Amino acid sequence: MKENKEIDLNSRMRTLPSVQRLLETPDAKTLVEEFSHSEVTDALRDLIAVSRAALASGKDPVDFESKQFPDLVSNYIQRNRQPNLMRTINASGILVHTNLGRAPLAPEAMAAISDIAQGYSNLEFDLDAGARGSRHEHTAELLADLTGADDAIVVNNCAAAVVLCLSALATDKEVIVSRGELIEIGGSFRLPDVIAQSGARLKEVGATNKTHLRDYELAITEDARILMKSHTSNYKIVGFSTAPDRKSLCTLAASQNLIVMEDLGSGVLIDLSPYGLPDEPVVGDILKMGVDLITFSGDKLLGGPQAGIIAGRADLIAAIKTHPLARAVRIDKLSLAALEATLRLYKPPHNPIKDIPVLRMLSEPVEDVRQRAHDLQSALGSGGVSSRVTESTASAGGGSLPAHDIKSAAIVPYLRTTSPHHFANRLRQGEIPVIARISKEELLLDLRTVSERDLKPLANAVIAAMPS
Ligand SMILES: *Cc1c(COP(=O)(O)O)cnc(C)c1O
Repeated sequence: MKENKEIDLNSRMRTLPSVQRLLETPDAKTLVEEFSHSEVTDALRDLIAVSRAALASGKDPVDFESKQFPDLVSNYIQRNRQPNLMRTINASGILVHTNLGRAPLAPEAMAAISDIAQGYSNLEFDLDAGARGSRHEHTAELLADLTGADDAIVVNNCAAAVVLCLSALATDKEVIVSRGELIEIGGSFRLPDVIAQSGARLKEVGATNKTHLRDYELAITEDARILMKSHTSNYKIVGFSTAPDRKSLCTLAASQNLIVMEDLGSGVLIDLSPYGLPDEPVVGDILKMGVDLITFSGDKLLGGPQAGIIAGRADLIAAIKTHPLARAVRIDKLSLAALEATLRLYKPPHNPIKDIPVLRMLSEPVEDVRQRAHDLQSALGSGGVSSRVTESTASAGGGSLPAHDIKSAAIVPYLRTTSPHHFANRLRQGEIPVIARISKEELLLDLRTVSERDLKPLANAVIAAMPS
């Protein structure tokens, strides 16, 4: 029985055409004229491979004889010409979504990128002296001003910032970390591994839920160099838990000539509590408490491009700047341009809450989000798709504001016979892919992360994805 099947499969495989034979058909010749020889060859080879795989798994192969075959090849080539990295609509309600590129940029930041990208710039050129300058000059003062730090440097991302700080300051020395703060965040950033990578030695203190000041005190030996805190940004230890406050930790460190460093992850430059948000530590407040050095991301709640910011004591920043690794993890000019422009939005005449997209989305009154949901509902209705508006909970994401929900509003399209997972898949395959959220077996389109500009394309995408 099994043998017969194999023979059958083999003979069906043999009926598949060769690339060479297909290329000789008049249709293929027309396609080569429209596209190119290499694209048509690649497409035919791929379609034959797809057919072979289909036969092997008991499915139907491509019909190479059909009238529609030239269109199939043409569509295939067109799709291959599209960029792989493309705009998507984030209807997940997760504001800082690492998989979706984190913070959208403000127009000012995009304008800066385009201006700098188009030509030459004074990236590392001191215009007054007419001599070599430093790329760090463009943001150092702004960051000092916004955080109260003595000095600051910017690198590729926050992970690089942490490795660089530890490499420059604690190679072959001990870094003391509470067991409650040995974090792992998405994309394989694991604090114990990062410390090992930097050449420093991790010394764990305390217990998962409780670490006392005396735990740090007892762990300090001659080899100690840094007392490190990290923001437990994607989880929260609730209930029976303690950690010493920053002030006493800083006093202890100062008395022993040690450095207190804190990895904040999502750095918040302004107090977001007036907007109904729990206390995400504000960079400036932490430095005021005596922390010597902090690291945070540019593209989380700061609302800018990918970047890692290191701010703190001038002597430490100076040592970090000259470490060889600083060159390997330096920020590129386009991110730097966007970061400077974003930082300027924190200063007059701007209002960061209104002018920085992530902060605007975070602080937008739920009534306005709901209004957008109703607007989407009408647009869907005009396209023959019925839906209902529902309450929803959005979240800050990106390792910020743990265990906090943001009131939001969502659309639940009426899917007729399709399942939520199947429809979510169709939405992802559209011309502008849409990322929805599935909650309690329902497909939700959360409007907090959908901008006004996204609204019409989103409606069109939902209408297009709906099976007729
Ligand atoms: C997000 C995060 C990082 C990594 O930041 P990247 O900019 O993605 O490199 C490091 N530490 C903490 C606490 C974080 O939340």
